[in-house]
Amino acid sequence: MAEIRVENLVKQFDAFTAVRDTSFTVPDGDFFCLLGPSGCGKTTTLRMVAGLELPTSGRIHLDNQDVTFKRARERDIAMVFQLFALYPHMNVRRNIAFPLVSVGTPKKEIRRRVDEAARTLRIEHLLDLPVSGLSGGDRQRVALGRALVRQPKAFMMDEPLGALDAEFRHIMCGELRAMHDRLKATTVYVTHDQLEAMSMADVIAVMNGGCIEQLAPPQEIYDRPASIFVGEFIGSPAMNFLRFEGAVELGAAQVTVGGIRVAIPAPREGRPSGPLALGVRPEHVGLVSEGGIRGEVIGIEYLGTNQIATVVTTHGMVKARLPASDAVSLGEPVGLAFRSTKLSLFAGDTGKVIRSA
Ligand code: ADP
Ligand code: MG
Repeated sequence: MAEIRVENLVKQFDAFTAVRDTSFTVPDGDFFCLLGPSGCGKTTTLRMVAGLELPTSGRIHLDNQDVTFKRARERDIAMVFQLFALYPHMNVRRNIAFPLVSVGTPKKEIRRRVDEAARTLRIEHLLDLPVSGLSGGDRQRVALGRALVRQPKAFMMDEPLGALDAEFRHIMCGELRAMHDRLKATTVYVTHDQLEAMSMADVIAVMNGGCIEQLAPPQEIYDRPASIFVGEFIGSPAMNFLRFEGAVELGAAQVTVGGIRVAIPAPREGRPSGPLALGVRPEHVGLVSEGGIRGEVIGIEYLGTNQIATVVTTHGMVKARLPASDAVSLGEPVGLAFRSTKLSLFAGDTGKVIRSA
């Protein structure tokens, strides 16, 4: 297995820049996720690492070996696609064996490796069945098996669970992660689904417009988003952003915006000028009858164990996740209170974080 190091990768398609100056390192054995909306450059980045696309500039290292100009099959990286092309007329065993057969691996070795892959994926009982009758999840396992038998240096997966329904995707996420923990194979996983990324990745790179906006473990991405974009993209419902114009007082241990004291130390250097946005997750918003930022409840969504109240204020719309037992009614005037240790302050114009509590 291998460490992957990507340095200042750029990819242009004519005048259009799909990937801009992207750098990251995936330590040997890590599960790394490229996460972002459609069109942000995830697939292009993955294809460059796999050797299916030549970068316009930048370098790619596999285990300290520069592979930037090496062809895909010399890199020893396995790709797993969403639209896995299994051979419908072959059974599971022959489908998994195919990459080994095509390079002339001895029969005994093929049998050993296919059995091993099937054991890892828990599909031994399917080996003699035709793939045509398999469920989506089992087909996905066979596709993984086919990647696995090659014993590659690393796995590249491009939205491999995209074709599955939500419930099955959730199960497969758990299985993929469990398989990763057994194999300890360096994996780069592309998805636009934040839940997939959050539940599986050791480290997530959140991409936007060809750039990595933040590169950090899931918890940090969630708690301390580097930008408004990341806060909005991660979490359901998304992070709230209250907009403030001026009226900012900076203290050593707190910032006061719109009369609200926020326990965020002021930036050490420079005063933020221009508009500001205060970011807070819905689960850290409470409703109070007196004081707070005043607003009116305009929506209530029951979710069983809790409920989401939508409150309109002069600083924007705010969603609060509350216990289902709380009495809230539409049209009710309320105040918003925030858990002050869970706030972030963003520059309203650039969207970049200034400080997190
Ligand atoms: P993602 O996988 O994040 O959805 P892609 O990496 O597929 O994004 O694409 C990033 C951008 O580059 C998109 O705007 C896409 O249209 C463009 N793009 C991708 N491949 C090509 C290509 N071969 N020629 C021209 N533009 C491309
Ligand atoms: Mg893609």
